[in-house]
Amino acid sequence: MSDQIIKPDLKFTEAIIAAGGESLKKCYQCSTCTVVCDVTPDRKPFPRKEMLYAQWGLKDKLLASPDVWLCHQCSDCTAHCPRGAKPGEVLGAVRKMTIQEYSSPSCMGKMVNDAKFAILLFAIPTIIFLFELFIQGHLTNGIPRIPNGQLMSYSLMFPPTAYIDPVFVLTAIFAVVMFYKGVKKYWAAMAANHPEPPRKDVISAVIATIQEILTHSVFEKCGVAKDRSIAHKIVFYSFVGLAITTALAASYIYVFNYNGPYPQTNIVKWIGNVSGIALLVGITMVILNRFKNQEKSGIGSYFDWFFIFIVYGVGLTGMLAQILRLANIPVLGYPMYFAHLVFVFVLFAYAPYSKMAHMVYRTTAMVFAKYSNRS
Ligand code: SF4
Ligand code: SF4
Repeated sequence: MSDQIIKPDLKFTEAIIAAGGESLKKCYQCSTCTVVCDVTPDRKPFPRKEMLYAQWGLKDKLLASPDVWLCHQCSDCTAHCPRGAKPGEVLGAVRKMTIQEYSSPSCMGKMVNDAKFAILLFAIPTIIFLFELFIQGHLTNGIPRIPNGQLMSYSLMFPPTAYIDPVFVLTAIFAVVMFYKGVKKYWAAMAANHPEPPRKDVISAVIATIQEILTHSVFEKCGVAKDRSIAHKIVFYSFVGLAITTALAASYIYVFNYNGPYPQTNIVKWIGNVSGIALLVGITMVILNRFKNQEKSGIGSYFDWFFIFIVYGVGLTGMLAQILRLANIPVLGYPMYFAHLVFVFVLFAYAPYSKMAHMVYRTTAMVFAKYSNRS
């Protein structure tokens, strides 16, 4: 039998506790959590072993693990733990630290997850869009001048091709490049930590993962907090709908040279409105579930709530901006649209560092788990 060198990092254990895994030390390794978890693989199941790794500060094992992302934090394990430990929360804290570990630049990971920097993060897009108003001559004494005397249209405030699209195209490129860098490091760490030969090709692993995400088939196995999978599915599909809306709107602008406003009968409006309402309904359900299940799965950390706040902000300002435009109240509608742009910027520009990144890291871990025959 070969000797294994264990490198405990007690600072890492303290960091998990600070990140929301405060129940970690209660665990006495009975394995009840692993037995009740319906989503863990049979071979080397979780979350008991992760609780041990976390207690011992085995940072390399946890941060290079696909398993921490296979957990959907349904809280079945927490509900049955005889010691009142919360393995789902501990894994949630490790997931947050995984995003911080692999994101670059790393200072951004720290800023997005520290309430002290929240004002600065919002100030950046606010200054960008105020500057755009300034160079168009829409600022008078620091207040956006409302275009008047014609049908209200937000493209009068920010012509899309000249002002909106360059900002968001650059934001998207930044997010994609940062995600690519982070995921590349994470995949390399998982491959080094799981040297067993893979048994699937990556393409079939990707296809199986996409099927699993679209159906939420694994998430639905969770028992105690079943509502979470319903709320998550609504939010997920509302994002899909909003992405389709954006693609259709872009084709109207760049193919048909039409900048809106769209009549309510237009397909862009239909998909956008249904998706926007679904987003608000889904994220409200997420919030209610968190309060309802706080005894079992915890209320969540700043990391969770920052993301919820941003998603709510995007949905609410988007719907209100439309209502105010239809009601023709420019004095409220234009500032609301401005706020909407700021929220959308915050959602996408900081996505590689916020909880939004879980979409990318979880997908990567799911692909790796299938590729390496882990699940
Ligand atoms: S059920 Fe609780 S005490 Fe038992 S191994 Fe899991 S976390 Fe530890
Ligand atoms: S929270 Fe749910 S999915 Fe995660 S380890 Fe516990 S039982 Fe399994």
